[in-house]
Amino acid sequence: MKAYIGLGSNLGNREENIRKAVELLEKSPGIRVVKLSPFYETEPVGDIPQGKFINAAAEIYTTLFPPGLLAVCRNIEDALGRVRTVKWGPRTIDLDILLYGEEVIRTSELTIPHPLMHEREFVLRPLSDIAPDAYHPVLGKTAQELLKELWKL
Ligand code: ATP
Ligand code: CA
Ligand code: CA
Repeated sequence: MKAYIGLGSNLGNREENIRKAVELLEKSPGIRVVKLSPFYETEPVGDIPQGKFINAAAEIYTTLFPPGLLAVCRNIEDALGRVRTVKWGPRTIDLDILLYGEEVIRTSELTIPHPLMHEREFVLRPLSDIAPDAYHPVLGKTAQELLKELWKL
């Protein structure tokens, strides 16, 4: 299955954190990283004062099912020293599953497509760089279309 992962970091060596996360993804059994977007520096969202983020997106091929992929993402976050404090607070690394093929999943653990991806330029911009035609199965639009829509607002 083809899937897309959104990566973000605003603590420590941010580029290095993202590069390491990609390396760990690549080393995980059942995952191949096929594309990595450019890195973008972005302003934090929400009311918590914190440093700017570096964001990127990766295209992967995986034999894992979504829960397995989420587990890998959480393990990588732990391995890179993410400490969970406040919601939307600063973090060394954040890995979100943006899209998993064209599947729609809604469980207590996992929502795919990622519920806020279409509202976030810091997600759609790197995603559109590597996969302008990646299809959002709920909204019925491609990454590029969603990004253009956001720019129109
Ligand atoms: P946001 O979801 O707004 O980007 P966040 O990334 O800061 O916020 P986290 O604290 O990293 O939120 O994640 C909390 C939980 O969200 C995860 O433990 C996971 O169970 C759940 N989750 C639901 N859907 C997804 C998804 N598509 N990708 C990653 N985690 C998800
Ligand atoms: Ca996130
Ligand atoms: Ca997350």
